[in-house]
Amino acid sequence: MINVIISGGPGCGKGTQSDLISERFQLAHLSTGHLLRIEIANFSEIGREAQGYIAAGNLVPDEMILRLLAKTVDELPVSHGVIFDGYPRNVAQAEALDKLMEERGKQIDIFLDLQVPDEVMVERMMKRAQTSNRSDDTPETCRHRVQVYHEQTAPVKDYYVKKGICQTVDATGTIESIFREIEKIFSKMM
Ligand code: AMP
Repeated sequence: MINVIISGGPGCGKGTQSDLISERFQLAHLSTGHLLRIEIANFSEIGREAQGYIAAGNLVPDEMILRLLAKTVDELPVSHGVIFDGYPRNVAQAEALDKLMEERGKQIDIFLDLQVPDEVMVERMMKRAQTSNRSDDTPETCRHRVQVYHEQTAPVKDYYVKKGICQTVDATGTIESIFREIEKIFSKMM
């Protein structure tokens, strides 16, 4: 069993690569952004609270995300590895995830950092906006999300570099070429 985090800026392709990884390596795909969008669609209490933060391109409060994450992890089959997509988004969330995993006798094995230049992130988000219907894919919000990424999420990488489990991937290529790079990293680990 292997537990993976996939990280990177908005539009870096982490959702797409997570789908491919989860299928190829039999991991449960846990996307906090997706979980939040389900909560919003269901008009749940979390969904109603989270909506404003997401539409503005800001991070949803840690405590709310952690509740959602713990509930979802506990619903997974015990033997199943997980790919965490979009979590942790700041260092406090990384620390909370360590605690959550430790309490369940688990650990994070790989931190995948998908790197793309800012202008590519914005370009990809704008392209996605044509079909996604996401409230946070407007030009202004996209630029703000890139800024939030640099200020709060990018520093998370150091946390995992120090643990010796960070793997950086150039994510500017095609979906297939990026996935081949990721497969190479996994085959070395397994
Ligand atoms: P994503 O689908 O990962 O791009 O996430 C979409 C939006 O959901 C983000 O811009 C945040 O507003 C919110 N979100 C997703 N994951 C988190 C997280 N781990 N912490 C805080 N907010 C999050």
